[in-house]
Amino acid sequence: ALLFPTRLKVVPHEFSDRASFRSWLLDDDGGFRNTFTRDIRAREQVTAPFVWFAPSDDGHDVEDFLGGHDDTLAWCREFMSPRDEIKPNYPVADMMDDGYTKDHGYDYDLVVIGGGSGGMAAAKEAAVLGAKVACLDFVKPSPAGTTWGLGGTCVNVGCIPKKLFHIGSLLHESVRKDTPSFGIRLGEPNGASATDELSGIVPDPSTQMRWELVRENIQNYIRGLNFKYRVRLREKEVTYFNKLAKFTDKHTIEAVDKKGRSSLITAARFLVAVGGRPSPLSCEGAEHAISSDDVFAMEKCPGKTLCVGASYISLECAGFLAGMGLDVTVAVRSILLRGFDRECADKIGDYMVDHGVRFKRDVIPSKLEKIETGQTKVLFSDGTEEVYDTVLAAVGRMADTDKLGLESVGVETNPKNRRIIGKFEQTHCPNIYAIGDVLDKTPELTPVAIQAGLYLARRLFGGDKEAMDYQNVCTTVFTPIEYACVGLSEEDAVAKYGQNNIEVYHREFVPLEWSLSMSRSHNAAYTKVIVDKSPQENVLGIHYVGPNAGEVMQGYGTSMKQGLTLKTLTDTVGIHPTSSEEIVTLSITKSSGEDAAAGGC
Ligand code: FAD
Ligand code: NDP
Repeated sequence: ALLFPTRLKVVPHEFSDRASFRSWLLDDDGGFRNTFTRDIRAREQVTAPFVWFAPSDDGHDVEDFLGGHDDTLAWCREFMSPRDEIKPNYPVADMMDDGYTKDHGYDYDLVVIGGGSGGMAAAKEAAVLGAKVACLDFVKPSPAGTTWGLGGTCVNVGCIPKKLFHIGSLLHESVRKDTPSFGIRLGEPNGASATDELSGIVPDPSTQMRWELVRENIQNYIRGLNFKYRVRLREKEVTYFNKLAKFTDKHTIEAVDKKGRSSLITAARFLVAVGGRPSPLSCEGAEHAISSDDVFAMEKCPGKTLCVGASYISLECAGFLAGMGLDVTVAVRSILLRGFDRECADKIGDYMVDHGVRFKRDVIPSKLEKIETGQTKVLFSDGTEEVYDTVLAAVGRMADTDKLGLESVGVETNPKNRRIIGKFEQTHCPNIYAIGDVLDKTPELTPVAIQAGLYLARRLFGGDKEAMDYQNVCTTVFTPIEYACVGLSEEDAVAKYGQNNIEVYHREFVPLEWSLSMSRSHNAAYTKVIVDKSPQENVLGIHYVGPNAGEVMQGYGTSMKQGLTLKTLTDTVGIHPTSSEEIVTLSITKSSGEDAAAGGC
């Protein structure tokens, strides 16, 4: 009943047609050669639907139980390799032979070190593909003593709490800035007259966002996710250990639990997915600063806050704290959002200033000191001094590899950031692999870690060959005005192709949802598309500064992967009235010198 692919591989055999596969399936007496179905039967759990092989059309009675959903998926992946047919030119991962054989004699086929976004995805996928897998996750408390549950950075101290605080702060801002213009009067009985506020543009200063309440709700939600992750690992038959791992040789780790009890675990293959941790400040008194590992779980409102650093984490935290009504300053060493499109980064800075964030430019803290009030006095490199309730250091992250024993197994790391050096996620020790934030020269983003983990598991246990593609990954900065992009910044496009060989289409606009409010910055939203000057005008980069930026950009990311041209983009009929339609209706070029400010509908 299953279609025969052009080439079918059953390790260690390879079949080029249905007949040779069938003759392998049958033993000398015409019975079913039952090795892999027996393996599957031995597993304890089978999930619906139940799948049998169909009797063959040429008279053989090849009827046997394949298994449930996961077994069928695994069978299809292993035996049919559909990617060969769909994407003939996919990038192939030419990995070193790691010596893996099914009868290796170790405790596990694969041990994953790190139960974050990447590690859990890889562990579950490998298990679905029939591998015997264990996953170790252990959280070392931050220097300020914060700790958390299973799921890694994203769910506990990264994307999830950050985005929830951000959403809350946007709501709060909307209540203050937008709702009056829509005639919404919070706390007034229905039908109350608002004649004396006819303009409806008076922000309501009395609305409050209570730190303790939002923090508690977010932390409860995270605890629920921690529990779900454990359940999902169990469902996929991945053995979970809440233990800290360290290599003792290339097939063995020492695993230590909370009470210091140690045991040895062996595996044919290891996957290192330990992520990273925040870098501390290097000045005197650095211990008085907290990091993103602490801020989301703070029992008390952070109060007047200094955010040190000017990239994703610092600006996102500064944005949501200011949106909650707190007094926030950002200490910028050089520029905002290094590596991003300059024009877009500056628009974010301008918007944040309007949003109430203060920027202290060209400074770094030189000394932090606790004072009697419990606050922190900060001496800056320009000689100024200021006092804050909280200092949040967001000056980059280091891979969490220093106590992993990597040197003892020949896994090399980049001394600048301790990230593991590898090719196709394989380290210099062929049976040890790495994915996610710990792998050097890859974007530190959750979906990247997950995708790399899935692809690797399919290559190791599913017969796939497809390499992870780290190009044209979309990203969003969740600042008060959000910013999303895919592809090259204008600066990178100029550097790569030359100023005369690129064109930039752009537009400033007011998102419709902000158009009634007088409290919103004028034309703060912006989009630009960078193309080359080849006849087909290939799109090199898409940038969008405005509401719901991540939602807007995701689909354009798919188009970029297919090779997007300006004509395809502008041939696309927009959805009206949306902010995303601004991208498909771009017509003003930078070189024309025309005003990029959009008119109305
Ligand atoms: P992690 O998720 O860090 O998981 C590693 C796990 O391994 C951790 O649980 C760690 O405790 C454990 N571990 C470490 N050493 C050992 C050991 N020796 N033994 C056992 N376990 C060990 N990305 C986005 O895409 N979108 C966002 O909006 C976004 N926001 C972010 C906001 C913040 C504040 C931060 C800090 C990051 C954000 N990121 C975001 C980045 C994203 O969180 C990471 O890219 C992602 O979590 C990396 O996943 P990972 O699997 O590589 O590692
Ligand atoms: P980054 O490495 O991106 O940026 C570090 C920032 O700190 C830069 O502005 C840098 O300035 C500054 N800095 C570095 N050292 C010092 C110092 N000693 N004193 C003052 N400033 C300093 O780190 P982040 O911590 O912001 O983010 C880490 C990664 O996490 C990101 O690269 C991203 O991949 C991921 N992330 C993703 C998010 C998302 O997808 N929305 C959100 C949050 C994080 P300079 O430019 O001068 O070097």
